[in-house]
Amino acid sequence: MSYLVLARKWRPQTFSDLVGQEHVSQTLKNAIDGGRVAHAFLFTGARGVGKTSSARILAKALNCESGLTVEPCNTCSTCLEITEGNSVDVFEIDGASNTGVDDIRELRDNIKYLPSRSRYKIFIIDEVHMLTTNAFNALLKTLEEPPPHVKFIFATTEPHKVPITILSRCQRFDFKRIALPRIVSRLRFIVDQEGVQVSDEALSVVARKGDGSMRDSLSTLDQVLAFCGNSVSDTDVAALLGVVDRRLIMDGCKAVLQADVKGALEIVAQVDSFGYSMRQFCQELINQFRNIAILKAVGEPGDLLELSDAELGDLTALGAQASVQDLQRHLAILLKAEAEIAHAGFPRLILEMALIKMASLAPAIPVQDLLARLDALEKGGPLPPRGEAPRPLAPAPRPAQQAPPQQQGVSRPAAAPVAAAPVAAAPQRHAAAPQAAPSGFASGGDLWGGFVQAVKAKKPMLGGALEEVYPVKVAQGVLEIGCLQGSFQLTRLQDPEQINELKSLAQGHFGVPTQVKVVALNAPPTDAAPTLSEKKSLEDAERKAVLRREAEEHPLVAAAVELFDGEIAEVRELPQKEAAKS
Ligand SMILES: [Zn+2]
Repeated sequence: MSYLVLARKWRPQTFSDLVGQEHVSQTLKNAIDGGRVAHAFLFTGARGVGKTSSARILAKALNCESGLTVEPCNTCSTCLEITEGNSVDVFEIDGASNTGVDDIRELRDNIKYLPSRSRYKIFIIDEVHMLTTNAFNALLKTLEEPPPHVKFIFATTEPHKVPITILSRCQRFDFKRIALPRIVSRLRFIVDQEGVQVSDEALSVVARKGDGSMRDSLSTLDQVLAFCGNSVSDTDVAALLGVVDRRLIMDGCKAVLQADVKGALEIVAQVDSFGYSMRQFCQELINQFRNIAILKAVGEPGDLLELSDAELGDLTALGAQASVQDLQRHLAILLKAEAEIAHAGFPRLILEMALIKMASLAPAIPVQDLLARLDALEKGGPLPPRGEAPRPLAPAPRPAQQAPPQQQGVSRPAAAPVAAAPVAAAPQRHAAAPQAAPSGFASGGDLWGGFVQAVKAKKPMLGGALEEVYPVKVAQGVLEIGCLQGSFQLTRLQDPEQINELKSLAQGHFGVPTQVKVVALNAPPTDAAPTLSEKKSLEDAERKAVLRREAEEHPLVAAAVELFDGEIAEVRELPQKEAAKS
C-alpha cells in the first residue's frame, strides 16, 4: 500500500474544509448562489495556503452533476475525477513548465470546443506569473472575449508579476497566511483521525515551522510521523526540527524578568549542552520579548500574536512583572547581542553578557513619576512613592549620605552634615513609613526661613543680609542671630536701629514681643542651622545630584549613552523650571 502524504490525503474537498480563508470561500459561495460567477479568477497568496485546493473546489462547485452548487457532492463521477485530477473538462496547467506562446495557442484552440461532459471547460493555471509576455498576450485575447462555457482560474504567489491587463480581467482573491492557532487545530483534527498521540505544544512547534502554510505544516508533520511513529514526544519534535525547546525560552525570559542572573546563565548552559544554536536561541528570546511587550502594551492582541491560549496565559503572567519600557530595553539589548553573535566567534559569551545585563537592569522610572518626584523635591514635601516594583539592586549611595555624620571643627565644611540632614532625609522618606520627628534645627530652620522671607518682602536689603547669617536660636520670644566676626552683616545688624527694626518685624511675624540679639561668631557654628544661602546652595547641589541620578537611570538617556558610547557631561534643568523656582 502506497503512503499518501498528509497534505494530499487531507486536502480540503469543500469550502468548509478550507482553513483560514473564510473571506474567499464566503465570496465565492455568494457569487455561486447569486449566479454571478466571473469567467476568470485570480487566486494570490503565499504557498500552501489553499489556492490550488480552492481552485479545485471551485471547479467541482461549477461542474458537479448535482448542479451548480456551493457544496459540491464529492461523490458524483465529475467531482471524483476532479479530485483525482483526471477530469476531461478541467485542465490543470503548470505555468512554470508551460510558459510559451505555443502552449497558450494550443489552449486557445482547445477552448473553441464545448466541454465534453460537464457544464464548463475549466482551465486552472498555477504559477501564472511564469508565463512569457507573448503567452500573456495570447491569453489576453481569450480573456477579452471568452466563450460562455469557459472559466479560468489563475493561481500565483507573485501577483505583481502578472500584467495589469490580465489582472483587470480577473476577479481577484487574496489568500492570507493561515494563523497559527488555525493550523494547530487543523493538525489536531488530522492527528486525531490518524490515531497519533501528540501534544498541542508539539503541534505548535510543527505549525510554527510551517510559517502560515498549511501544506508546509503538513509536510513537517509527515516528517515527524515518519521519525516518531504514532507516539510523538515534545523532545523528539524539538530535536528533529532543530528548534529550541519552548520551556528553555520561557525559563530564560522568566530568569531575566526576575533578575535571576544565575538562572539565566544556567539556561544558556543548557542551550549549549543540547547543542542548540546560540543565535537561534537569541532570536527566540527576541520573539518572546516582543510577544510579552505587545501583550503588555495592547492587552488583547487578537491577530497580532500567533500564540495558543496556554502560551498567552503564561506570557501575561511573565509580563506582569515588567513595564513596557523595561521590555523595550531588554529587546534593545537582545537585538544588539543577536547582531553581534552573527559575526562573532564567541556566541555563548555574548549571549551570557547580554543576559547578565538584562537581569541586572534596574527598572525604568516612568517620566510622570520622575516629574512628580522632582516637583515634590522642589517644594520640600515628602516624595511620592515610586510607581514601580522595588528595584532589585541597591541604589547607588546618595552623595549626602557619604558625608561624615558629625565632624567637629572650625572649618567651613563642618556645617555640611547638619545642613544636609533635612535635605538628605527627603529622598528616604518614602521608604521609612513614619516620618522622623522634626529636629530642633529643622523646625527652627523653618521658623527662621519663614521669618526671613517675611522680612525680605518688606525690607529686601535687610532680608538679604539675614540670608547670610546664622540662626543661633529661634524660639518663641527669642531670636539670636550669629554673624561671623568682621563680617559686613555683623557691622550692619549690630546697629541698634536695625535691631529695633528687626524686633518690630519679628513681633509682627511671630505675633509675640521678641528679643533680638546679634552675636559675633569666630567660626560657623556646628550646632546651629546653616545660613539660608548656604542651605540654598546645598539644596541646589543635592537637587542636581538627584537630577543627574534620575537622568542616568532614564531608559532613553541610557540608550543614548549606549548608542554613542558616551557619558553624561551635564544635567541641566529646563528653563521654565528655573524661572518658576526663582
Ligand atoms: Zn458532484
